[in-house]
Parts: sequence; structure tokens; C-alpha cells
Amino acid sequence: MLVLKFGGTSVANAQAILQIAAVLKEKAYPQNMVVVVSAMSGVTDMLVSCYQKAVQHDASYHEVIQQLETKHMEAIEQLIPHSYQIDIKGKVKLLLRELEDICQGVFLLDELSDGIKARIMSYGELLSSSVVSVAFKHQDLPNTLIDSRDYIVTDNNYLNAKVDQKKTFALIKERMADAALTIAPGFISRTETGKTSVLGRGGSDYTASIYAAALNAERLEIWSDVDGMYTADPRKVKAARSIKELSYKEAMELAYFGAKVLYPPTIAPLVAAQIPLMLKNTFNPSHKGTLITASPAAGQNSIKGVSCIDNIALITLSGSGMVGVPGIAMRMFKAVATQNINIYFITQSSSEQSITIAMADQEGQLALQALTKEFAQDIEIYDVDPVNLEPHMSIVAIVGNGMIQQPGIAGTMFSILGSHSINIRAIAQGATERNISIVVRGDDAVKAVNLLHDSFFLAKSEKQAEAMA
Ligand code: ASP
Ligand code: MG
Repeated sequence: MLVLKFGGTSVANAQAILQIAAVLKEKAYPQNMVVVVSAMSGVTDMLVSCYQKAVQHDASYHEVIQQLETKHMEAIEQLIPHSYQIDIKGKVKLLLRELEDICQGVFLLDELSDGIKARIMSYGELLSSSVVSVAFKHQDLPNTLIDSRDYIVTDNNYLNAKVDQKKTFALIKERMADAALTIAPGFISRTETGKTSVLGRGGSDYTASIYAAALNAERLEIWSDVDGMYTADPRKVKAARSIKELSYKEAMELAYFGAKVLYPPTIAPLVAAQIPLMLKNTFNPSHKGTLITASPAAGQNSIKGVSCIDNIALITLSGSGMVGVPGIAMRMFKAVATQNINIYFITQSSSEQSITIAMADQEGQLALQALTKEFAQDIEIYDVDPVNLEPHMSIVAIVGNGMIQQPGIAGTMFSILGSHSINIRAIAQGATERNISIVVRGDDAVKAVNLLHDSFFLAKSEKQAEAMA
């Protein structure tokens, strides 16, 4: 059993869908396969704009739905012989009519809950999977279309729903049709009470990994439009290249740190069952891509990638009254957590005089207010200094198992940046030693990533090239 997931650009139009069909035929079909698809690229964003417009009493959501219709109908016309189009066109129209009714409700009531947002967003994958399934039938790929909501059970955190693995795995094992090829929409799920939920933006990867784990698949393949995970973001670093092999843990670190090719929660379900994950490019299928397993072949580099998160705000709480006082960190994190703010980075100096945390820029002000309120009394008596906010920063991290217990990596990192006058505002290394993260000014981030990439990757391969010459 193989599970394959194709992202939005892989189903973006008729040509891309034909490309997937070609990829599938290359496999030893008919071995059992589950194929999970995203919405056509851009569609989820269009659905978000539908509900945003509707709740603001802006009737132009009708136009967006019209564009959705055109997009899917165009694909149908190019993929499916004329005399077979009627059923699938009818189905697409029906789905869009339902969508229009829900949006109309939002428009009339000026009410929009997370549950309704999830329902509206679910139409992207419902539409794409329906079109792909019929298209495949006309490509000699007979298949069974399922609705992932009948298999994936979640809590009622509608937009970022948490999967109940026990119930979900049981349903998948019990209900999954014994078809050679099953087509399933990604992203969508259902709460225990039967309401539509979704697994978070980018969540189709996660859907695929749930199927793979439940079915104990031989492998999960995630197909996108890039050649796997890169040593750095190719938009920032020209010399970035695809990484051949990674461990689950390295991939998780890189995924969290800005490499958008993989939705971070995807890896966890694979680890327990030791299911290998391959990242492949639909439009360059002969490229090997990236293979992610528990124990990858040892590479030549102790670090695997340099990653970067931009638009970060740093908040520092400092003061002499913090030393030796238990509970300060707890109060700090609680105040921020109460505002639902996600923290990317934490460091505390061992003198205990300051704790620094990082979050998305747009949440900086809110965090500042919450902390100023929480520590108002301590600030008044000068135990704690006024809370300090520094916006427009970036977190740059180097990631790799090879750093473990290898001295000198942090030293190299700091000396390279130092010799190019890049100021490091904060440093964090987890005790796992798999990641060293630093915070620099946003304006310095691209330069920092390039310098680190050059020194950890390029320098090495150039040296090797010289040695071989
Ligand atoms: N269509 C959803 C999104 O754009 C899920 C996915 O593509 O993974 O976020
Ligand atoms: Mg994705």
C-alpha cells in the first residue's frame, strides 16, 4: 500500500492533473494506492475571501464563486470527453450551489463562526477530488472516490482540528474500500458531532500521513512543485539545493522553520510506524527528491539546512527583581498564552536578569500590552523594567543531527556573522542540539542566511572539488 498526496499546484489545471496521471501509471499500478489531493491552487484563499466578503455584506462573493466555477469547468472540459461531462459538471454545480447558499446565509445574518468557515473552506478539496477522480477514470485509472470526513474524526476546534487518532484509525481500517486506487480529499474532517472541520492551512499533507499510518503504508509520498526540502529557501539563497536524506527529527525542525514544503504535524504519525516519507516534484518526477526516515544515510555535512522565519517581534522582560524569584517565567508565558499568541523562541540568561521571547510581528503589540498589564505592579516598584518590544526581526536557524556533540558549530556560526558585522540579538540552542537559532534584524536576515549557507555547504563542496581535482 502506498499513500500519495498531490498539492494545489499539482491539481492546478488540466495539464497538471494529466501529469499526476502519468506519475501514477509509472507506479506498479494496480498496487493498492490512496491518493490524497489538495484544492486546486488558490482555491482555499478564494473560499476564505468568499466568507470574508459575505460577512461584510459585500455581495461580490458571487463573482468569486463564478470564478471557482470557471476554473473547475475549464479543467473538466479539457480532461473529460464531451459526452461524459454532464455528471461531473452537475456535481460541481451542485457543490457550488451549496457553497453559495451557505455564503448567502452569512451575508444575510452577518454571522460567521469557525464552524461555518471550515464548511466553506471544505469545498476546495471536495471539488478537486471529484474532478480528479472522474478525470482519472478517463485516463485508464479506475478509482473509488471517498469523502475524508467519513474517516477522520476531530475535536471541535474547527479550523485547526485535532485528530482523534484512535477513532480515526479504526474507521480507516474498517471502512477503507479494498480498491486498487482510492482518491481522497485532503484537509477536511468531521467533529464527533458530525460537523465539518479542517486540519489547518496546509493540512492535506497531514491527511495523507494519517491514512499512511492507519493503513501501515509502505511509504508516503508528498508531491509538490519543488524537488523536496532544500538546504535553504531558494528565494533567498541562490545556491540552495535539494537535500537527499533527512531524519524525521531534522525534517520536523526544518518544516517548522519556514520550509513551506511540508506541514509540520505530518511527520508525527509516521514516526511510530516508521513509514518513510518521500518529497517529490510532480513536474520533475525523475528527480529523487528528499527521503525522510528514522535513520538516514550519514551525509557529509553536519548541518542539513539553514532556515529563516521573517517578521518576528522580540519581547524582553528584564529587571533585577527577577533574580531567584520563582514564577516569573510562568506568569510571562501565561499572560501571552491567554492572548492565544504562539511563541517561536525562548531564551533566558543564566543570571536570570532577562527572559526574551519571539512571536509573529503582528502579535507583538498585543503581547506587549498583556505583559505590561501582568507586571504592572512589579514595574511600579522597579523590580521589573518596562517591557521591551523590538519588531521586524528574523529567526535564523541551522539544523542537523550531525551537530550533536560536535564542538565548534556554534562558534563557526557566530564568527561568520560577527565578521560581517551582523549583530545577533538572541541565541537559543535546545538541549537536543539539533538546532541553533539566532535572532537578527530583519534587514540582515537574507545576508545572514547566505553567509551561513555558504560557509556550511558551499565552502565544503568547493573544498572537496579542489581536493578531487
Ligand atoms: N487547501 C488547503 C490549504 O490551502 C489545504 C492544503 O492544500 O493542504 O491550506
Ligand atoms: Mg501544502
